[in-house]
Amino acid sequence: MSDHKIIADYHTHTNYSHGKGSPRENVLAAIDRGLETVAVSEHGPGHFTFGVRGKKLSRFNAEMLSLRREFSGRINVLLGLELNVTGFGRSDCPEDRGAYDVIILGYHKSVAPFNRHAIGIWGESLLGIKNDPHRNAEGILAAAEACRADIISHPNLYVKVDIPYMARCCRELGIMLEVNSSRVTLSDDEIRLIKDSGCSLVIGSDAHTPERVGDFRLASEAVTRADAWDAVKNAVRTGG
Ligand SMILES: [Zn+2]
Ligand SMILES: [Zn+2]
Repeated sequence: MSDHKIIADYHTHTNYSHGKGSPRENVLAAIDRGLETVAVSEHGPGHFTFGVRGKKLSRFNAEMLSLRREFSGRINVLLGLELNVTGFGRSDCPEDRGAYDVIILGYHKSVAPFNRHAIGIWGESLLGIKNDPHRNAEGILAAAEACRADIISHPNLYVKVDIPYMARCCRELGIMLEVNSSRVTLSDDEIRLIKDSGCSLVIGSDAHTPERVGDFRLASEAVTRADAWDAVKNAVRTGG
């Protein structure tokens, strides 16, 4: 048993994209799990099939602000987005970036050519790079810096990145690297190395149903194996 408790889930999705529940259901689930903070961080506009954009994105933002007011004093409700890398150094960051409490940036497949600079559409070619983990990391980090990302989600998913380099840069930029609890994309050694480099980790459920909000089991097991709890920013020590 770990002697740590995770108090915030910054990475949850809803039926605004391809998730199952509503934002309200995610908030209620987070209260049930005893969390202090929950973000709904919907897929950014550049994702071809899941992206939330236009009027729908405005509705999402308004609903989140209304939930924040309604649940004030019970739980912190944060407005988030999980942006997509749309090319080397580029993302689908909205113009009103400052309106969001939490910006996650992730490399995904099926990203629409959101702007004319996007190098490719379908997966591997998105960064314009083949099999170069260091250049992949550079491309994603440049995008993260440009959109002032708080978190890089599921590093290594779809494209392998140079984790030692990414950890050093993220420490300097103040960006957290995620241990994703839907699918752990970091090896135990990589998690340990991130901690040792002084970079912060964050555990996210990546829930696509209310039932999975606050489900941190897989990531917690990995962090325990890597002995890296001290680096996890959304966990507190419970003693023992
Ligand atoms: Zn993602
Ligand atoms: Zn996600």
